[in-house]
Amino acid sequence: MKRHIGNSDGHKSKKGHWALGLLSSMKNKDYLVQSDDRVTMIKDMYPKALHHYLVLPNESISNLKALDKKHLSLLEHMHEFGENYVHKNHPDTNFIFGYHSEASMHHLHLHVISNDMNSSCLKTKKHWNSFNSDFFLHSKGVIENLKRNGKVLLPLSEKCKEYLNTPLKCNQCNFSAKNMPGLKTHLLSHVK
Ligand code: AMP
Ligand code: ZN
Repeated sequence: MKRHIGNSDGHKSKKGHWALGLLSSMKNKDYLVQSDDRVTMIKDMYPKALHHYLVLPNESISNLKALDKKHLSLLEHMHEFGENYVHKNHPDTNFIFGYHSEASMHHLHLHVISNDMNSSCLKTKKHWNSFNSDFFLHSKGVIENLKRNGKVLLPLSEKCKEYLNTPLKCNQCNFSAKNMPGLKTHLLSHVK
């Protein structure tokens, strides 16, 4: 069975129907984790680590470019919402919180992802670097960026390409890997 119809991975062409998938998952009880009147937290459909969630605003906001100062408290709330959930449900696991510089899916989403990066869905160098290079914009930094500039200043697309092509390096020690299979095997050595 082909599982990847409509996912965000590997698509370079104009965004199609698949890019709206997060909106469907927000309404799908199999993916819904918890919500309040401002935000909804879902499970990522193609998790790139043992625990991978997305926190999305309930109001329609397409992406980071659509943000201005009035969204500051929303971004802070999205972060706290994700943080509270993982503190309660995964107290012994390290997570990172952030946004991809160039998102492939429509509707603003904060990645909340455990740092094991241990998942069969994590396959490519691009997957790795989207969470482990400057392509990944840490949530606290995005909030500061918005406070300082009144909008979120993003890296140019040339820079994004460079970031996604960064040589592979472990996120938990200074190991450099030649390729993804090598990195994935190495990551298992960090599993407790
Ligand atoms: P981004 O590159 O920030 O747009 O990442 C989009 C994320 O959404 C990726 O981690 C995908 O695995 C995930 N994803 C793609 N389609 C869906 C879907 N229909 N429901 C939930 N998560 C999805
Ligand atoms: Zn390592």
